[in-house]
Amino acid sequence: MTVNTIIIFLFGLIIGSFLNSVIFRLHQKRSFLEGRSYCPKCRHQLSVRDLIPVVSFLIQKGKCRYCQKKISWQYPLVELATALVFIALYLNFGLSLKFFIYSLYSFFLIVIFVYDLKYYLVLDGVAIPAILLGFLGSLIIGMSLTKLLIGGIIGLGFFLIQFVVSKGKWIGGGDLRLGLMCGFMVGWPNISLLLFLTYLIGAMVAIALLSLKRKKWGDVLPLGIFISFATMVVLLFGDGIIHWYLDFLT
Ligand SMILES: [Zn+2]
Repeated sequence: MTVNTIIIFLFGLIIGSFLNSVIFRLHQKRSFLEGRSYCPKCRHQLSVRDLIPVVSFLIQKGKCRYCQKKISWQYPLVELATALVFIALYLNFGLSLKFFIYSLYSFFLIVIFVYDLKYYLVLDGVAIPAILLGFLGSLIIGMSLTKLLIGGIIGLGFFLIQFVVSKGKWIGGGDLRLGLMCGFMVGWPNISLLLFLTYLIGAMVAIALLSLKRKKWGDVLPLGIFISFATMVVLLFGDGIIHWYLDFLT
C-alpha cells in the first residue's frame, strides 16, 4: 500500500459520493451543481458530517440522523465500488493519460449501471455525452480512427440488428446508444470481447435469478447494467484477456 493508493482510494470514495448525488438528482430532474443534499425521506438538509463517504453510513448504522429511516445500501456500495474501480485503474495504468480518460469513462459507466438497475432506464442526458466522451477519449489516448470507428459500428450494429428483428421488444433505444458508446470506448477488437462478456454475464445472472425464483421466464433484465459492467471489465483487463486468448490459440 503506497500513499498514492490510499489517496486514490479516498478520492474514489468522494467521487462515488458525488455520483450517488448525480443519480439522485438526475431522477429528481434537479441540477447537480446547485443546492444542498437532503435526506430523500424527511428532506432534512444534510450537513458535512452526514456526507462522509461510507463512514457516515456506518456511524449512523445505515439510518438518517434526523428521521431514523433506513438509508439505501446503494450509497456506501457505490462509494466503495467507485474507489475500487479507481484503485484497479491506477494499478493497471499508473497515473497515465489512460488512467484519467478511463476514470472519466467510469463516472458514466457507474451512473448508467446504477440508474438502469434502479429505474430500468438509460437516460439520453447520460448516454449521449458518454458517446462523445468515448469518441474523443479514445482519440486522445491514441487509438487509431479505424479501430475506433469499427468498434462503434460493431457495437451499434450488433444491437441494431436485434432491435430491428425484434421490432424494439428485446432492445430499447437506450441500448443502441450504449452499443455505440462502448464501441467507441474500447474500440476494435476489444468490442467483440465486450459483447461476448455482456451476454455471458447476462446469462449467468438470469440463470441465478431464475433458480432463486427472483425472476420468471420472459421477465426483462436491464441490458444497460451488463453493457456498462462489461465495458469496465474490458477497459481494465481486455488487452490482457485478448492476448491470453490469442496465445492460447497458437
Ligand atoms: Zn431523514
